[in-house]
Amino acid sequence: MAKLIDGKQLAQTIQAEIAQGVERLVQQHGVRPGLAAVLVGTNPASQKYVGNKRKACQRVGIESGLHELSAETPQVELLDLVSRLNTDPLVHGILVQLPLPPQIDESAVIRAVSPHKDVDGFGPESLGLLVSGKPRFVACTPLGIEQLLLRNGVRLSGSHVVVVGRSNIVGKPLAMLLLQKGIDATVTVCHSRTRDLAAVTRTADVLVMAIGQPRFLKADMVRPGAVVIDVGTNWVDGKWVGDVDFEAVAEVASALTPVPGGVGPMTVTMLLHNTLRAAQLQCQGT
Ligand code: NDP
Repeated sequence: MAKLIDGKQLAQTIQAEIAQGVERLVQQHGVRPGLAAVLVGTNPASQKYVGNKRKACQRVGIESGLHELSAETPQVELLDLVSRLNTDPLVHGILVQLPLPPQIDESAVIRAVSPHKDVDGFGPESLGLLVSGKPRFVACTPLGIEQLLLRNGVRLSGSHVVVVGRSNIVGKPLAMLLLQKGIDATVTVCHSRTRDLAAVTRTADVLVMAIGQPRFLKADMVRPGAVVIDVGTNWVDGKWVGDVDFEAVAEVASALTPVPGGVGPMTVTMLLHNTLRAAQLQCQGT
């Protein structure tokens, strides 16, 4: 039976470390890290995510401000707000909750966030620095997955990691992160056009599922002893289920993340990590 990789517990441990880092920054520089959250419209899921992120900020002593705009907000108005937040010295990190309404070009907004405040790590400078091996802000879900693996003693150097899903916020940055010198995984990225997916997933020492298809990964797609990370969050029959057929895969894998309680809490925690890091870097003038 697979060992459970507990993201909730690890998130608490890391949040305690972040809280200490916040207090050190306050003592040494008189600066308390600040996150500005921008919410456009009234999508209930987005409201819930932003609420959770702000509560987490409060737990570790990070200031968080909420900027709520109506669903009809024109793009120029949102860009104007982002530009004001970019120059606000009390704001160290900016989070624009996605998705945005159809009249707004998401990539234009992502590009408008100052690269020094891009705590979601979605901007072109953050991505470029990651690809070039000098990451500043890494997207929160990939960073959380890396921490889950490293802090649970999963060997990555020389291991074959298969990432299923190639989105800009999970699959691609995760592949780049694990490929870095010092982490040294051999990484394969799969997607909806991959031929004979099961043949590829069965070669994985570490298998990351990030496709948004409930219980897609079956036991016969997993090499016995593999470590399986389930990123998927799918709302099915009134509960959250992952991309992994949990009960069946737990019989084959050596370790497995649950949904909920695996990757999700780590994602929120890495936003706090990135916000503290943004404040630290801004204090150093870098
Ligand atoms: P996207 O929809 O942006 O990307 C999905 C990816 O999965 C695409 O690359 C797609 O391939 C691939 N894919 C879809 N179906 C298949 C299939 N049958 N076989 C192989 N590949 C497939 O999703 P995200 O990356 O944004 O999110 C993925 C999941 O992770 C979702 O359930 C989301 O809710 C969850 N998530 C959870 C987070 C957390 O903190 N727990 C954070 C972020 C996301 P192609 O490119 O060819 O279309």
